[in-house]
Amino acid sequence: MSEPINNLPEQKTSNFVRDIIDEDLKTNKYDGRVNTRFPPEPNGYLHIGHAKSICLNFGIARDYNGMCNLRFDDTNPSKEEVEYVESIKEDVRWLGFSWGNREYYASDYFEQLYEYAVALIKKGLAYVCELTPEQIREHRGTLTAPGKESPFRNRSIEENLNLFERMRNGEFPDGSKTLRAKIDMSSPNINMRDPIMYRILRESHHRTGDKWCIYPMYDWAHGQSDSLEKITHSICTLEFEDHRPLYDWFVEKLGIYHPQQIEFARLNLSYTVMSKRRLLQLVEDGNVSGWDDPRMPTISGLRRRGYTPESIRYFAERIGVAKRENMIDVALLEDSLREDLNKRSLRVMAVLKPLKVVIDNFHDEKVEMLDATNNPEDESMGKRKLPFSKILYIEQDDFMENPPKKFFRLSPGTEVRLRYAYIIKCESVSKDPKTGEITELHCTYDPETRSGTGTSQKKVKGTIHWVSANHSVNAEVRLYDRLFKIENPSGDDWKASINPESLTIIKNCKLEQSLINAKKQDRYQFERLGYFCVDYDSSPANIICNRTVTLKDTWAKIAKTGE
Ligand code: ATP
Ligand code: MG
Repeated sequence: MSEPINNLPEQKTSNFVRDIIDEDLKTNKYDGRVNTRFPPEPNGYLHIGHAKSICLNFGIARDYNGMCNLRFDDTNPSKEEVEYVESIKEDVRWLGFSWGNREYYASDYFEQLYEYAVALIKKGLAYVCELTPEQIREHRGTLTAPGKESPFRNRSIEENLNLFERMRNGEFPDGSKTLRAKIDMSSPNINMRDPIMYRILRESHHRTGDKWCIYPMYDWAHGQSDSLEKITHSICTLEFEDHRPLYDWFVEKLGIYHPQQIEFARLNLSYTVMSKRRLLQLVEDGNVSGWDDPRMPTISGLRRRGYTPESIRYFAERIGVAKRENMIDVALLEDSLREDLNKRSLRVMAVLKPLKVVIDNFHDEKVEMLDATNNPEDESMGKRKLPFSKILYIEQDDFMENPPKKFFRLSPGTEVRLRYAYIIKCESVSKDPKTGEITELHCTYDPETRSGTGTSQKKVKGTIHWVSANHSVNAEVRLYDRLFKIENPSGDDWKASINPESLTIIKNCKLEQSLINAKKQDRYQFERLGYFCVDYDSSPANIICNRTVTLKDTWAKIAKTGE
C-alpha cells in the first residue's frame, strides 16, 4: 500500500463514493468487504486522469483495509500491446500503490465468458445475428426513434447454440456474424437495444495468441469480470452510467454475484488533451518525442518532467471526487508540485544564459569557499561549500547597460549582491568591436560585504545568482511550456492549437560544481529559475536538465502559496 504523503498536508476528505461505502459497511452489504479495482485497457500509457482513478480506487482499499485489483481490460486484440501492460504496472507502482498478487486480465475469463454466453442463449436471451455492421447501425434507431428488430432475432435456441459454437470454431469470416443480447429494441436506453456481445475477428491476442477468433465486447466482458472477482464497488467514470442497466441485466439474467457500479466525473485538465487516441496521435505524428515526453500529461511524462508521486496523490486529494464534470486548471497540478518540491529540493545555482564577469580586485589564483544553505525550508538538509573566484558567470538578463528605473540588478556603476557571496560593482563593459555584443563585465568586489560574516552595513536592493567559471559544469537545459495554446483543445482541428513554443532548449548553461555528480531524476531548485530534474538522457559528459516547473505560477491563475 502507499506511503503516507510525508511532506504534504494529509487531507483525506470524504466524498460521495466513500459515503456509499460507509453506508454499505453499516448495513454489512458485502460482509464488511471492500474490494475495488482499477481496470485499464492496455492500449496506451496512463495519464493524469487515470491517476485520479488510481488514487481513488487504491486509496479506498488502503483506507478501508480492503483490496484493489489491477485488471487489464484486454478484450480488443488489435489495439493492445505488451509494452502498454508493462508501462501501466510501472506507473501504478511509481504512484505508490500495490495490487499484491491480484493482477488480472479480462482475457483470463474468455472461456468463462463463453460459457456465460451459452447460458444466456439457452435461456433464449441471446442470438446469432447476420446483419452487417451498417445494417445493425440502421436498425439501432436513435435517441428519439425506437430501433427495429433483427430478422435473425427469433432463431431457435438450438440453431443459436450451433451457430455460436461454429463462430468460435472459425467457420465464418470476420465480421459476418455477431452474438447479440436479446433485450429490447425499443428501450429508451440505446445500450439495451440488443447490444453485441461477440464479434468474429482473426487477430492475435497478446495473451491468448490465436486461440480465439471471436472476442467479447467490452460491455459484455466488463461487468462479468467485476462479478468474477467479487468486486464490491465498481467505480467508473460518468459515461458508463447509461451502461449500468445493461451490466445489471447481464448479472441478473446469469444469476451471478452483483457488484455495485458507482460513477464519478472524469478529470479534465486545461491546456492538454487526455484521450489515449489523441495522445497516441501526438506520439505517432512526432509532435512529442514519445509517450514519456515531459510535456505529455501521461504519468511517465510527468515522471520524466520531475513530478513526484506525492505531488500527484496530493493533487488527486485536492480535486476531490464529484458527480459533475468540470475543467481543472493545470495550475492546480503545478501548485501541488511546488508545495512538495519547495520542501524537499536542494537549492543550487545555475546560469542559463551566461555573461562573463571578471572581478578585477580579486586575486588571480585564489578560490574562496563560501557557505550556502541547501534548503531554507529545512535546516536538516544542511549547508554546502561554494567556490568563489576571479571569473564568474551571471545571467545575461541580470545586466542592463541602459536600465530603466527600478532595475535593481547590475548596470554600469551600480552594485548588486551575489547570493551567498559579496556585493560587486560594475566598473566597465567590454564589447566585441565588430558586433557590439557585450563580451564581459569588469567588476570590483567589496571584501567587507561577505554574506553572513562581513562587517559592512552596506545594503543593496538586488541579489542575483552566479557560478564560478572554473568550477562550473556545462549543461543543456530544457524549458517547457503548455503543450497547447488554448484551454480546451477539442474538435477536429484540436491539433491546430498546439503550442509551437512548448519546448526551448538552451545549450552551454553553467551549473554549480556540485551538480557534476547529479544522477538521472535528481531534483533541484535552481535559485530564481525554478525546479529542475536531471533527464533520462543525461550523462556526465552531457548533462541535461528539465525544468519541472517555474518557481511561481507565471500564468498567475491561482493564488500563490509558499515561495
Ligand atoms: P481514454 O478515454 O483516455 O482513452 P479510457 O477511459 O478508455 O481512457 P481506460 O484504460 O478504459 O481508459 O481507463 C481505465 C480507468 O481509468 C477507467 O476506470 C476509467 O474510468 C478511468 N479513467 C480514464 N480516464 C479518466 C479521467 N480522465 N479521469 C478519471 N478517470 C479516468
Ligand atoms: Mg475505457
